[in-house]
Amino acid sequence: MADILDTKIEYLKGVGPQRAALLNAELKIFTYGDLLEHYPFRHEDRTKFYTIAEITEDLPGVQLRGCIESIELQGEGSKKRLIARLADSTGEVELVWFQGIQWIAHQLKIGIEYVVFGKPTLFGRKISIAHPEIEPYLPGYSEQQIGLIPIYHTTEKLKKHFLDSKGIARLQKHLLETIGERIEENLPPYALEKYKLLGRKEAIANLHFPKSAELLKKALARMKFEEFFFIQLRLLMQMKARKEHNPGKVFRNLSLLHDFYKHHLPFTLTDAQKRVIKEIYADMKSGRQMNRLLQGDVGSGKTIVAFIAMLIAISNGAQACLMVPTEILADQHYQHLKTFANRMGVKIGKLTGSTKTAERQQLLEELQNGSLPIVVGTHALIEDRVQFNNLGLCIIDEQHRFGVAQRAKLWEKNQAVYPHILVMTATPIPRTLAMTLYGDLDVSIIDQLPAGRKPIQTVHFYEAHRLKVFGFIKQQLAKGRQAYVVYPLIEESEKIDYKNLMDGYESICRAFPDVPVSIVHGKMRPQDKDYEMQRFAKGETKIMVATTVIEVGVNVPNATVMVIENAERFGLAQLHQLRGRVGRGAEQSYCILMTDYKLSKEAKLRIETMVRTNNGFEIADIDLRLRGPGDIEGTQQSGILDLRLADISRDQKILQAARETAQEILAQDPHLAFPEHQPTLQYLHRTSKQPQRWAHIS
Ligand code: ADP
Ligand code: MG
Repeated sequence: MADILDTKIEYLKGVGPQRAALLNAELKIFTYGDLLEHYPFRHEDRTKFYTIAEITEDLPGVQLRGCIESIELQGEGSKKRLIARLADSTGEVELVWFQGIQWIAHQLKIGIEYVVFGKPTLFGRKISIAHPEIEPYLPGYSEQQIGLIPIYHTTEKLKKHFLDSKGIARLQKHLLETIGERIEENLPPYALEKYKLLGRKEAIANLHFPKSAELLKKALARMKFEEFFFIQLRLLMQMKARKEHNPGKVFRNLSLLHDFYKHHLPFTLTDAQKRVIKEIYADMKSGRQMNRLLQGDVGSGKTIVAFIAMLIAISNGAQACLMVPTEILADQHYQHLKTFANRMGVKIGKLTGSTKTAERQQLLEELQNGSLPIVVGTHALIEDRVQFNNLGLCIIDEQHRFGVAQRAKLWEKNQAVYPHILVMTATPIPRTLAMTLYGDLDVSIIDQLPAGRKPIQTVHFYEAHRLKVFGFIKQQLAKGRQAYVVYPLIEESEKIDYKNLMDGYESICRAFPDVPVSIVHGKMRPQDKDYEMQRFAKGETKIMVATTVIEVGVNVPNATVMVIENAERFGLAQLHQLRGRVGRGAEQSYCILMTDYKLSKEAKLRIETMVRTNNGFEIADIDLRLRGPGDIEGTQQSGILDLRLADISRDQKILQAARETAQEILAQDPHLAFPEHQPTLQYLHRTSKQPQRWAHIS
């Protein structure tokens, strides 16, 4: 059945070939359906006239009626502006223009009544509205204009062809008149009923031209639900298909694991670690490919879990690899895993971009002939020349830094049967984000820290307290502990940052003349970085001055102080990661956030959050709310930014409901074969543009 929504946009009343070409080029609107989904990004509340006395600054937009009392030009050159005073019986506001001054000055007349719409801001005690919409008030105005007016994105080119926001609204009106009755429901009746959702036709109509604020809210809720619902339905169906179709190597032999457990375990595992290991083993023996996300806060002990998973693979004659995003991290993991592997007499190798040729040659050979069971490495692992004899398990740490295609490549390395995949993230991801980013992965969470850990104490100090901070570090060093001092390094201001780092290093050396101090930063050669890192790890140096290169993975349990300089410049995720570098041993650890006096509202919230909580998941949630999903690593390639209406941080409840609904429906009717699910199935097919190439790995 040809769908009316697929009709070319040029056939819509008021469009024609020329404007159609512009709509194609400027807004990627090709069809009726595309236009219909070009939703307004906000509505202007023209339902009422405010009196000037009622205006407060938090109102997004106000409509006023009043007379202009004076018109005045102020300032010179680029500071020139036009100010008109508008008054009603309750007070007055300033209308300000910075552009188009001549033209506007010419239009405005003193003593005539105008309708004004704009966003109020407060300057001292004066309310002003910059670049308001203004037109003379004519009798009958309220009848023709009243309501919530949709505001659409448009472009300069379109505006020149009368397709400003109003012009687009006109097209939407025509479109709804043309197809209104033919907008079909796509949600299952069960969902509509359970969540009291508006029908699709009514929702779309009210999204463009709301009959009331209440209906606009309902329309939005319904369309957001729909958006999330179809994403979740797809993810869940992919997960199911993968489970049905991707066979996995069957690993039942646990001989090495038992040996390790009985004789070589360096500490008692937490219950959470044990539970997660069971979940992993259940996958590895199931005969289906494991695709599991392992989440755990910093210091929760993911490495030993990874090692035990590796032992399971090795006990069954397979090889295991661990891929990490940076050289430093590769080295840290290699060292950490080696302490476990050595106890077992299991061989482990490391492959990175800086592995020497001869060493690399041997390593490649051993991987190919199967004599090297474990390899840790960077993306060097996915080069074509790296061939495994029998790769049974891929562990990917910090996966959000890898491209999806890169992961797929690693996965393709194997022959007939895919290796099991375990993705580890050190940065906790808010549950709702995980649902969408990794909605087709099984998830294991280590939600418990090893016993005996004391929560890190976090405090906030200003520059003026530096001596106090140094004094505190001295006390800790006297107890035999070590300290980090971390400086931001953000690319745009690299030179200044570098100078700050060096100045900081010098002042530390001056303040601690008898203490050996290490410095590590991104401009050093990898060998030199490693060398300094090792010295600190061995306790030869007591203070580590560094940039964020030490952010991930570094493990020095004797370090108990983390000083973060210019903490206001770090994001929450980064602050939490950095803090996680301490508190790794049995001693009480401290995180000291140093900031400037001037802090933005958001910086203040970040610092307060860090001081208040150690819970990575809570921090991740706030981070998501502050930054939005677009800035969180890993979201770019996930497609969740393609959401048209929903917002993964603000609409968590809707997402939750949509996911549950999708789960419930698939549990009853896995192939959407029931008659009442046909519209849902058809919509799903119609909107699956490209096959999801990488769906089978995550
Ligand atoms: P992360 O989850 O951040 O990767 P690690 O695996 O690096 O954490 O573990 C942090 C530290 O805690 C390491 O020194 C590790 O050996 C230790 N550790 C892990 N699990 C336990 C445990 N159950 N009991 C005591 N120490 C543990
Ligand atoms: Mg780790």
